[in-house]
Amino acid sequence: MTNECIQEDIKNTTSLQLNTPVCFGCGVCMLVCPHGVFTVRNGKAVITDQSVCTECGLCAANCPVNAISVIPQSQTEKVTAGC
Ligand code: SF4
Ligand code: SF4
Repeated sequence: MTNECIQEDIKNTTSLQLNTPVCFGCGVCMLVCPHGVFTVRNGKAVITDQSVCTECGLCAANCPVNAISVIPQSQTEKVTAGC
């Protein structure tokens, strides 16, 4: 199995979800995300590029109203067989 294969599995299991009605646009998720996944437009967070999310969990842990959910990588099932 190659490292490329592992990366592909992670991208295929991205679990990031944003509950937009709950968001009040504080921008914390945008500030803490190391990969620039979020921006804030018209008072709401917006996911600009979900494909670069590494499921680190920082955004979900810091959102004051729990508008973000993500299952950290360590808890996702990684399919390794057949690579
Ligand atoms: S889980 Fe991590 S990488 Fe993904 S959007 Fe949140 S802060 Fe960014
Ligand atoms: S941290 Fe939560 S409330 Fe703040 S902008 Fe992001 S999703 Fe919205």
